[in-house]
Amino acid sequence: MKTRTFANTLLLLAAAATAQGRGFAPVAPASTVAVCIEYDQQARLVQTAQPVATRLLAAADVTLRWHTGFKHCPENALRIALQEHSSPSEHPGAFGYAQPYEKATIRVFLDRVLASQPGGADSANALPALLGHVLAHEIAHLLQGIIRHSHTGLMRAHWTVEDNKRMRTTPLSWDPDDIELIRLGLAARLL
Ligand SMILES: [Zn+2]
Repeated sequence: MKTRTFANTLLLLAAAATAQGRGFAPVAPASTVAVCIEYDQQARLVQTAQPVATRLLAAADVTLRWHTGFKHCPENALRIALQEHSSPSEHPGAFGYAQPYEKATIRVFLDRVLASQPGGADSANALPALLGHVLAHEIAHLLQGIIRHSHTGLMRAHWTVEDNKRMRTTPLSWDPDDIELIRLGLAARLL
């Protein structure tokens, strides 16, 4: 029995060595994040904004897996609720907010996104670009696990008029600190 156990151990060691030789390194922390998004209106806008957010997070090495609605939402997924009406007293001036210290939930004020671009602005990309950036910004807050803003780029607290125009053609960039915080946040989520 002992001999067999020893033989099995040798076999396991040999298999491990072979696996290492073939490049089976320890698995890196998963950077795929499930996101459930719920909305009743503006389906076309939301569906064109989602790829914008996906591309923005991909630039921070995060792969988003979208699910529509909360009904079949995976347990560890982030949840985004699009709110059609907001009251002025609710997070004044914000397009949305994340609650990283509570349940993984984001609220986005769709009425403020629409109102910020009267007549859809001068380009068909304006609204999807803006909503996509709002989604990516709030998702980053949840992944980082803190509410913190950068001086420039996607994680700036308030985008300038210039940022707003630029994002229609060129995605806003990440501050390197934000990418590092996302990486650390993702690692912590796996613990
Ligand atoms: Zn923010």
